Amino acid sequence: MLNIVIFGAPGSGKGTQSERIVEKYGINHISTGDVLRAEIKNNTELGKVAKGYIDQGQLLPDNLIVDMLAAKLDSFEQSKGVIFDGFPRTIAQAEALKAMLAERGQQVTVMLDLDVPEEELMERLIKRGQESGRADDNEETIKKRLVVYHSQTAPLIDWYKQEGQYAHIHGSGRLEDITAEICAAIDKR
Ligand code: ADP
Repeated sequence: MLNIVIFGAPGSGKGTQSERIVEKYGINHISTGDVLRAEIKNNTELGKVAKGYIDQGQLLPDNLIVDMLAAKLDSFEQSKGVIFDGFPRTIAQAEALKAMLAERGQQVTVMLDLDVPEEELMERLIKRGQESGRADDNEETIKKRLVVYHSQTAPLIDWYKQEGQYAHIHGSGRLEDITAEICAAIDKR
């Protein structure tokens, strides 16, 4: 079983690279952002709560995300593995994921840290906002998301280093080169 955490700041390319990894390794994909956006679109109770946080560039409470993730994980049958995209985003979530996998006799195979310079993140997100109309891809909310990333999410880098699961990936440059670096990091494990 492959359990891959794809990690990085907003705009680092987690979604794009996840699609490529899913195709190559035939594993399932959980994007917490995509799940939340679907909940918002369907106007569910969770969606209504999520919208408030997402529009403010803030993280949802850990318990909501962890419950949502556990339900999604249990919905996969005969899975070859999972790529976790947008989760964990806090130390508490990383601990919850570790426990959730341990209950199933598994662990994280590798955490891929897509490292992209901050100016490039900003440019990419503004462009994405113009093209896709994603409500949280506007300059003001992007700035808030980057602050949240640095304060709440970036500490996971050291956490995963301590777990011995960390892999650094150069997240800027040609898409194919980034994918190749990712595959090399996965295949080494
Ligand atoms: P990005 O990586 O570009 O910020 P995502 O689609 O992964 O985009 O997430 C969008 C928003 O959804 C986040 O800003 C946050 O509000 C919420 N969200 C996604 N994943 C999580 C998570 N693991 N914990 C808390 N909130 C989350």
